[in-house]
Amino acid sequence: MATSKLEVSLQQLEHGSVKLQGELTPDEAGMDIQDELIHLKKPLLYDLTAERLGESLLITGSVQLIVDCECARCLRPFVQELRLDSWACHVPLEGEDRAEVLSDCVDLTPYIREDIVLALPQHPLCDTECSGLPGMVNSGTGKKSAPAAEGVKPNSVWDQLDKLKLR
Ligand SMILES: [Zn+2]
Repeated sequence: MATSKLEVSLQQLEHGSVKLQGELTPDEAGMDIQDELIHLKKPLLYDLTAERLGESLLITGSVQLIVDCECARCLRPFVQELRLDSWACHVPLEGEDRAEVLSDCVDLTPYIREDIVLALPQHPLCDTECSGLPGMVNSGTGKKSAPAAEGVKPNSVWDQLDKLKLR
């Protein structure tokens, strides 16, 4: 049964918790990221346990994804590992936002996708200290406040001292 979907069978859950392990390609996970600094090329790995809790499912476990990023400041490519180690998700089977059940199976992909998308870096940086590309560092922030002071010659202090001496 080589299903590439992350789903759990309700019938199986009647006999206890179900282990779900595998991977989803970004396509299978339905992740369509519009951020040009973030590229999803690697599969999302999951290692989960599903349990039935009354009229809902409790999914716990870990989700891992390697994200290819580009630094927002220096544009250097780098890799960031996203890990949701104690991920837990409550999937209602009753009520308004109940999960859709298709031939006895609940698709867990949307729940994982939501949390992974939230965990993606909003402003990827190769390093928190990254100062950007050389030459474009904070240009225009008016850091050069020196020119105004340049008119004052360093030796003016000595001039004044000299004047004092003359008195
Ligand atoms: Zn950088």
